Amino acid sequence: MNGLNDTMTYRVSGSGESGMDVEKVRADFPALHQMVHGKPLVYLDNAASAQKPRIVLDTLQHYYSKEYANVHRGVHYLSEQATQAYELAREKVRAFINAGDTREIVFVRGTTEAINLVAQSYARPGFKAGDEILITTMEHHSNIVPWQLLCEQTGAVLKVAPVNDAGELLLEAFEQCLGPRTRLVAVTHLSNALGTINPVEQIIEMTHAHGARVLVDGAQAVPHLGVDVQALDCDFYAFSGHKLYGPTGIGVLFAKAELLEAMPPYQGGGEMISEVTFEKTTYADIPLKFEAGTPHFVGAIGMGAAIDYVTGIGLDTIAQHEHSLTEYGTQILGEIPGLRIIGTAHHKGSILSFVLEGIHAHDLGTILDQAGVAVRTGHHCAMPVMERFGVPATTRASLALYNTQQELDQLAAAIHEARKIFRL
Ligand SMILES: *Cc1c(COP(=O)(O)O)cnc(C)c1O
Repeated sequence: MNGLNDTMTYRVSGSGESGMDVEKVRADFPALHQMVHGKPLVYLDNAASAQKPRIVLDTLQHYYSKEYANVHRGVHYLSEQATQAYELAREKVRAFINAGDTREIVFVRGTTEAINLVAQSYARPGFKAGDEILITTMEHHSNIVPWQLLCEQTGAVLKVAPVNDAGELLLEAFEQCLGPRTRLVAVTHLSNALGTINPVEQIIEMTHAHGARVLVDGAQAVPHLGVDVQALDCDFYAFSGHKLYGPTGIGVLFAKAELLEAMPPYQGGGEMISEVTFEKTTYADIPLKFEAGTPHFVGAIGMGAAIDYVTGIGLDTIAQHEHSLTEYGTQILGEIPGLRIIGTAHHKGSILSFVLEGIHAHDLGTILDQAGVAVRTGHHCAMPVMERFGVPATTRASLALYNTQQELDQLAAAIHEARKIFRL
């Protein structure tokens, strides 16, 4: 299953600024080539979940149909093959985020489970009443609610650092929120609702200077930015496979080995033990200590294929392509009367969140859907940030490596059409 695409074949000279051959990339994604309501699909809901390239689909098919057996337990051939592939996927993840050791890579269901694991297994045993957890206004509910649960359980206090009108974290105010009681900062790397890219390196440095730990929610960052957890020196980093062109139901928690070693298991059951008696059970070494039960090993292997795919094209190439698309999209959406973009950070990822005067986001989303354009409408699992900007909901177009300027033109045309329908 090494059908890795040759990196160079995705680059063509003179194919725009990014030098990426988008049509070739699109050919790798079967789901993009379909009609919706009689119109060619324009898929702009990538921040919710990304489509899968054929290499990922083929990998899943291969492991389910040819090399399938439970991992780690078997002495037989198929089990050993599956185990090797699972552990190779762990190595691919390690290299992808430049962790120092595969022992620091825990496979989980996704970002949400990774954050809950840290809340329950790292924070809950040691945090006391009055200890503080600091997040920001722009967090996804998955990086809010686990901390609220923890606060109820321990008496710890949740603090929230504010953002400015562009949706940028106010770093000075953030630093003022840090104090002797701060135990943990949990912050998104790239906001799913606004597109803001946070200065996580500075955040981590400031937080460490106050003796606290940092968890970075990397669900949106990992598909678009190169992430180096050692350079960042973050303590925990969480992301999901399905937003990275990989399967659903698989994700990653990176944590520094010394932290994982000191943490009690999150769940009990098969695979996470060393020895079990009714008197006392001893646990497996990290990372298996945190992988109770049969893991989603086919998913992990599929995510490994997705990582091969994006690194084959190159994250720099992808980022350039998405950046020029975002600029183009910002420009043409900005020309639509009554349209206001929510989230105008200077340092921003490929997310275009907006409101349109006179049309509710849900109505707009429905009209766009009729035109074959898939966007997300609503609060994007970030209700507090919607409140901060005084809007109940936005319409969000989120771009991926396979999107094109032409698709953004189709989005803009469909919005113009919606304005006509509403006689605006
Ligand atoms: C999607 C997302 C999550 C949650 O990821 P799941 O895969 O649903 O667990 C958390 N944070 C951000 C910023 C996200 O975009």
